[in-house]
Amino acid sequence: HIHLYLIPTPIGNLRDITLRAIDILKSVDVILAEDTRTTGRLLKHLEIQRPLQSYHIFNEHKTVEKLIERMERGEVMAMCSDAGTPAISDPGFLLVRAARDAGLEVNCLPGPTAFVPALVNSGLPNDRFTFEGFLPHKKGRKTRIESLMEEERTMIFYESPHRLMKSLVQFSEAFGPERMACVSRELTKIYEENVRGTLAELIAYYEENTIKGEIVIVVQGK
Ligand code: SAM
Repeated sequence: HIHLYLIPTPIGNLRDITLRAIDILKSVDVILAEDTRTTGRLLKHLEIQRPLQSYHIFNEHKTVEKLIERMERGEVMAMCSDAGTPAISDPGFLLVRAARDAGLEVNCLPGPTAFVPALVNSGLPNDRFTFEGFLPHKKGRKTRIESLMEEERTMIFYESPHRLMKSLVQFSEAFGPERMACVSRELTKIYEENVRGTLAELIAYYEENTIKGEIVIVVQGK
């Protein structure tokens, strides 16, 4: 008996929802959503009507205890973030850990997440890799990047488009301008683009081409 399902949702293309995700969303007592409007739109599109409850990082600590109590009393819950797999650079970890600590069954479905297609599309070695998620925006950013100078595995970073150039320049300073990398933009969407090159080439490319939309940066290891 599963108490809590984590349900990956599309990162762009709505047809990437899995059949099993739909089955489970239809069956649960309540759907926890990072943003009830975003998940509400998806549920409407899928013609699913289940109670929605907000669950985001601002109330995560406070809500967890109450949710665990409800699961212990028998409620089955599903959790969705805005896009991709919950708990991957998204809220969810605290609830999963608390549920596990309470002896409850947690089950994450396989499904959309941005880093796997970005890694595979990059053509960089993927037998071993490290998922770095978001870098700190200011404090600790340089230290974090420098701590990766000896990293031999392919590195995956989530980044916002307005910090792309800053990251590419900082990577180039730490890893050298000849290091291979790939920028994946708007994965699964109409304007999906995967641009591969050395860090120096990517810097030159994005000086000419302003970038919008969501991006993943994949950098080869040392
Ligand atoms: N939970 C999500 C997952 O499983 O990938 C990640 C959520 S995180 C808040 C959002 C970041 O994921 C974006 O800043 C971007 O780095 C990446 N991302 C999400 N969707 C993307 C897409 N369609 N194309 C490229 N990157 C994407």
